[in-house]
Amino acid sequence: MTAHDRATGILSVDLDAIAANWRFLAASAPGAEAAGVVKADGYGLGAIPVAKTLAAAGCKTFFVATIDEGMALRPHVGGARIFILGGPLPGTGADFAEHGLVPVLNSPDQVGLWAGFAHAQSRSLPAALHLDTGMNRLGLDAPAVSLLAGDSRHLDGIDTVLVISHMACADEPDHAKNTDQLAAFRAMTGALMIPAPRSLAASSTIFLGGDYHFDLIRPGAALYGLNPIPGQPNPMRPVVRLSGRILQVRDVDTPQTVGYGATHRFAAKGRVATVAVGYADGLFRSLGNRGFGVIGGVKVPVVGRVSMDLTTFDVSAVPADAVHPGAMIELIGPDHDADQLAQEAGTIGYEVLTALGRRYLRDYVGGAA
Ligand SMILES: *Cc1c(COP(=O)(O)O)cnc(C)c1O
Repeated sequence: MTAHDRATGILSVDLDAIAANWRFLAASAPGAEAAGVVKADGYGLGAIPVAKTLAAAGCKTFFVATIDEGMALRPHVGGARIFILGGPLPGTGADFAEHGLVPVLNSPDQVGLWAGFAHAQSRSLPAALHLDTGMNRLGLDAPAVSLLAGDSRHLDGIDTVLVISHMACADEPDHAKNTDQLAAFRAMTGALMIPAPRSLAASSTIFLGGDYHFDLIRPGAALYGLNPIPGQPNPMRPVVRLSGRILQVRDVDTPQTVGYGATHRFAAKGRVATVAVGYADGLFRSLGNRGFGVIGGVKVPVVGRVSMDLTTFDVSAVPADAVHPGAMIELIGPDHDADQLAQEAGTIGYEVLTALGRRYLRDYVGGAA
């Protein structure tokens, strides 16, 4: 018996599609370097196989969120740059140095911390500066930027290798905040007069046009096949397939109900397939009576609540020979992508991918892993 035979859920990740998506995004921003964002374990798909694949495709700059993510990535990407989006925490300077990690400095505190570490080392240390152009989450705000612009000694010992900002509404191309943030980024970087490359664009921002590309683009979601331009056809190649194993098929009739809370009552004779994937695997409980799967080319609705390890689908419309214990129902795939599943669950594709569980058998297709 193979691991595939035993698997209750199979997650397949097409690394060649990730590489193709990276090349497509790079070609969409000619003149800019294309980085790869692989935080949160490569959006749940595996940071190491993803980063190795991107490095083989020519990617030389990676972004992760935490120092530990950077340390785990370092041995797999050769001499590529690894930026830590969360920045330095007190006492972590040695970890950055030892593993060749570059912090993104998000506040005057972090600038001070990094300058202090450089001073203690009696050398200049690389860092990226993050300017807040309207997100109000992380980044140096306008007064902090003025302070730095007025007195460059704050940056003594800091070798600014990149200046970034992050967009709040790039998935809404007509949102007024987009042009506001672009203008603020130009104004703030102009005032700073630091001759470093600039970066504003994550996935959706790339599609706002050349004005937004600057010197380096930072796509994450689009690499993994999520649609960077919601409401329009997805230009990215699909990356993820997820299927769940049918454990049991049962005939039902009115007035029976299914699952916890008896939230679905059958109106007529039908069949229910019970699949061995539940909310513990990242199939959100909010999909109860709202989500869909696909089997034999037929879209089948979730009936009743999603439980921890099990989900029930109404398969009455599917030819009987296609639905049997051991067969798989597709949860994410070309006919039902992560963005669609997210919409059914009331969330976004980012959360669907990063919530993918640890029990799936992971199948990597192609790539450099
Ligand atoms: C996560 C992140 C990205 C990538 O965003 P996507 O929308 O997934 O492309 C880029 N820049 C920063 C600062 C981020 O936090």
